[in-house]
Amino acid sequence: MQLSRRNLVGFALASPLATLPAFSFSAVHASTPATLATKLSPDEALALLKKGNAAFQADAPLNPLIDTRRRAEIAQSQSPVAAILSCADSRVPPEILFGRGLGELFVVRNAGNVADVAAVGSLEYSVAMLGAPLIVVMGHERCGAVASALTVVDEAREYPGSIGTMLEPILPAVVASRSQSGAPLVNATAGHAQRTAARLTRDLSPILAQAVSAGRLKVVGAVYDLDTGAVKFLEGV
Ligand SMILES: [Zn+2]
Repeated sequence: MQLSRRNLVGFALASPLATLPAFSFSAVHASTPATLATKLSPDEALALLKKGNAAFQADAPLNPLIDTRRRAEIAQSQSPVAAILSCADSRVPPEILFGRGLGELFVVRNAGNVADVAAVGSLEYSVAMLGAPLIVVMGHERCGAVASALTVVDEAREYPGSIGTMLEPILPAVVASRSQSGAPLVNATAGHAQRTAARLTRDLSPILAQAVSAGRLKVVGAVYDLDTGAVKFLEGV
């Protein structure tokens, strides 16, 4: 992420304002330099990701822009087409799964795709300061973090260091999976991604909620299939 002096000043101003009830997303968005804002609509950005993922599944990569010319194009600014909150798992690299190149995805990763303070702030930055029209919260098959969260609920297992604290936001989806038919890990993974996507605009971020209300932003949940390479987008967010 490029942090110019102008962006840093804007970001410093935007953060405290976000806590005020009368906060205006449009005021912050209007301060985004025009050259930084992608012109894609939320649906166009989603279509771009689906197209790239289809090519990835078919072993027919789209030749994403990662060369010297592209580096020069974006050296001074960025206008990502989407922000992705995904797991840190080494098998789930968003740029590759979606066939995108340099400067196209604003990627936030941690184990279990958890919307902690740093993740929410980063997503807000991508939308309010960079004009990203789409956020994808992406879980994945056989996620170790979600599997660990299952053992916290089922076995009262404790994890060392900060791991247990990190897992806490996953626990509600694990508990909910207990009343659903099917494999708990599969249900909890999808439920956690869907719940996190919904919470981003319901509880966690007035900035993102306002952008969705204004039609500037779409937030969707998704689950990546390790076997097929397919990203399944979830409904009902
Ligand atoms: Zn994972």
